[in-house]
Amino acid sequence: MEASSAVSHRAGRWDAVLWTILGPLACTLIAMGVNHRLFMGLDPLAYEAGLQSAVILPLCVGTPIFLFFSLKMRDLAIANHRLRIMAATDGLTACLNRSAFSAQVDARAAMSGTTMGAGALLILDADRFKLINDRFGHQAGDRALELIAETLRATVRAGDIVGRLGGEEFGVLLPNIDRVSAGRVAERLRTAVAGITFVADGRSYPLSVSIGGVVFDEEASFELLFQQADDRLYHAKQTGRNKVAMTSYIAAVAG
Ligand code: GH3
Ligand code: MG
Ligand code: MG
Repeated sequence: MEASSAVSHRAGRWDAVLWTILGPLACTLIAMGVNHRLFMGLDPLAYEAGLQSAVILPLCVGTPIFLFFSLKMRDLAIANHRLRIMAATDGLTACLNRSAFSAQVDARAAMSGTTMGAGALLILDADRFKLINDRFGHQAGDRALELIAETLRATVRAGDIVGRLGGEEFGVLLPNIDRVSAGRVAERLRTAVAGITFVADGRSYPLSVSIGGVVFDEEASFELLFQQADDRLYHAKQTGRNKVAMTSYIAAVAG
């Protein structure tokens, strides 16, 4: 996001420069054309004066006006860009929020089996998280969520997408992956969270997540994939927590 933001700011700066040069230039050409028609066939001195004013006036008046409006439009584009990022980002963890994440999964899953191969959706739910809030307070709980989010982001590959689905539940989209590798990534994420050193009230407290995952290689949607991954997550919770349970997407089961 930061990199794309820097690129768009640079592009906006060049747009402003381009408009400031091309705008007055276009006005000058139009004014020269008009003056040529108006003064053509008149006294050569008047013709020359007309052409000079057609060059000087648009350059002197037009340049600051075009510069002013180009910079204003650039500021507006930057503000819009920031708003779009804010609207897609979870305030606490800086991951994608649920709607932005589900849109990414929908977009990727719609292409599966046609232009793209297999992918996987993992749903991660922090284990016995209520206990953390009860023992150490809500602020400590928030800090634990931030640590889990940072760990997930640091553990996935570039191109994988981490989102916060709500509460103490996260989603990870692995866009190009087979079932065996998806299981390995899920296991790596589980181990990474279990390895976090979370200290509250001077005592370290273990964190862990249970993970349900679904691997898809045909067209699907976030909702359908979520159902099957959530079913596996339930299984991981029921069989002891701090576990991974994976499945392959079955279209007939969906719905
Ligand atoms: P389980 O292992 O079954 O998932 O147990 P759990 O305690 O994690 O599950 P439960 O659904 O009972 O509790 C979830 C807790 O997560 C309760 C809620 O207060 C806490 N929680 C949800 N969102 C936030 C948040 O943004 N900040 C904090 N501090 N706590 C949150
Ligand atoms: Mg939980
Ligand atoms: Mg939960």
